[in-house]
Amino acid sequence: MSEISNQLIDYILIPKNDTQRLVKLSKNDSGVHEQSNYNILWNANQAIHEILKTSTDVEDARESLFDYLFLREKSLLNGDEQYHPLEKNIILESINVLKTIISLSSEERTGVSDLEILFNLAKGYPAKANITQGFLLEFVHLFRAISGLSGVYSHSSDQNNVPEAGLKKGREAAIDRSNTLDREEQKFDAIVRQYPTGLQPDVIRDREIHKQRILQYFNASEQDWRNYRWQIKHVIRRADVLKQLIDLTADEESAIRIANENRIPFGITPYYVSLMDKNPSRRRDYSVRAQVIPPLNYSQTVAENKNQRSEKFDFMGERDTSPIELVTRRYPQIAILKPYNTCAQICVYCQRNWEINQVLDPHAFARQDAIEEAMQWFENHPSIQEVLITGGDPLIMSDVKLNYIIGRVAEIEHIERIRIGTRMFVVLPQRFTDNLVEIIAKYHELGKREVAVVTHFEHVWEITPDAVQAIEKVRNRGISIYNQAVFTFANSRRFELVALRRQLRLAGIDPYYTFNAKGKDETREYRVPIARLLQERKEEARLMPGLDRTDEPVFNVPRLGKNHLRSGQDHQILSILPDGRRIYEFLPWEKNIKLVSTYTHTDVSIFEYLKMLQKRAENIDDYHSIWYYY
Ligand code: SF4
Repeated sequence: MSEISNQLIDYILIPKNDTQRLVKLSKNDSGVHEQSNYNILWNANQAIHEILKTSTDVEDARESLFDYLFLREKSLLNGDEQYHPLEKNIILESINVLKTIISLSSEERTGVSDLEILFNLAKGYPAKANITQGFLLEFVHLFRAISGLSGVYSHSSDQNNVPEAGLKKGREAAIDRSNTLDREEQKFDAIVRQYPTGLQPDVIRDREIHKQRILQYFNASEQDWRNYRWQIKHVIRRADVLKQLIDLTADEESAIRIANENRIPFGITPYYVSLMDKNPSRRRDYSVRAQVIPPLNYSQTVAENKNQRSEKFDFMGERDTSPIELVTRRYPQIAILKPYNTCAQICVYCQRNWEINQVLDPHAFARQDAIEEAMQWFENHPSIQEVLITGGDPLIMSDVKLNYIIGRVAEIEHIERIRIGTRMFVVLPQRFTDNLVEIIAKYHELGKREVAVVTHFEHVWEITPDAVQAIEKVRNRGISIYNQAVFTFANSRRFELVALRRQLRLAGIDPYYTFNAKGKDETREYRVPIARLLQERKEEARLMPGLDRTDEPVFNVPRLGKNHLRSGQDHQILSILPDGRRIYEFLPWEKNIKLVSTYTHTDVSIFEYLKMLQKRAENIDDYHSIWYYY
């Protein structure tokens, strides 16, 4: 653990008027936090403290706390208390969150009683659980919000410059507003520009030098580099080879070695290695290294469970949504076809890492009889109007096989759209030969059948001249390309996705989905709190023109499919674990259509996430409002 995060363990971060500050926590001789530390919590809402302190037992506290919250809500709704409508909205939302958390139904659902923990703390009784900073901070913020002290708006430097209705009118008001918006834009544009794109001249120059080094190592030519077959043949599968091309940290090297020894899929195309800096500081290439170089914990966890891969790592429960081999179905009109089970390189947090055996697996093409049965299944299901051909990465298949698969699907009368899921633009743009583009394009018939491509850029750093050229070839044939990004720790800093969206649109790709990283244990370092995804959408994406922010932030509910996170009424917080992780309940997309089970999900701790950001030299004060996204 770094020096910074050690420091944070002893400090607590609290909002104070217009800034956040760290307050030193005191410990007794045995290293246990002193009771006085909890004053930070109780000062956040003294009424709640009083209720907890004076209640006879937990049930008494529940009744009194509900009464307090209902009364507070009533007085706000009746206008008895004067708050700015936006602050009032935060108070009301926070009241609702606390009501749900202290309810018996949440406790039954999660097996956790936050009320009991708070009651014991207020009474000075021994805590039954190990209370962490993350837990305390959640309640400090919740209590402060209910007191009307969230501090969200006091951070805004322009708060006094927003023209109040009635003060200024007409042109004068418009000029004021325009000036305010200019300042806002300049502020965020300066942040966006801190994220270098792969199209910048200095980056192109650095990568050219790097490419020459790689070519020299393989004793290859420029012509080889442009040939996707050469790229595939030279996919880097071992740490000792990768070490010759870029510098690795000790952890990176160990993680790859463990992966190699335990036959955990690992591989990187020479092209993608050329997007990495030689130096392992990850200053610019964090997201690219994180994409393919597994963290030590990942390799260790997967190695320990390598004999139970499908049970342990099938987070989406695909085995329960596969009506026939090679097919996955979660929605009425679309189903997935997986004829090819490998990729040119392996993403660490791949949803299907439990199915893929190795990079460029020579046995990845499905059995002919299984393909024919899958085709028959589609023919027998006229409700399916769209087929997503994915894998693995189907564009790694030979042209002949790909042509056969797309052609077979196109023969099915009721299939109106064929969607191809591929990362080739990102990891191997050389794959888009004229022949490949021709194969894809010939099934795209306006008025009859659409072929669309869905890809997966994670970072603006991945958008290169080669990628743009490949995109252009496909777009020139009238085919739309959409992007599905996964929101991970590697691309979740302020305005990092804004930078990606902007360049994607310029390159000819529509942002389509932003996925919350799957709640998989082996990739916990990649996960980002749902609150951060909601914050990104509201405070960053929302500032862009509508055509740039066409992506929908989603949480993928195992077995059932995507839950739109912007739909606040489709999820709620049930509880906060003593270690600071929120437990959410997700209402599946079928809500209001038919009764299906809801899904309970344990998120990652906001406090732990902020500590990790601080390790990356982020100013956590810039994320201050994260606590108020539920
Ligand atoms: S390209 Fe897709 S299927 Fe292949 S490893 Fe990456 S996420 Fe998994």
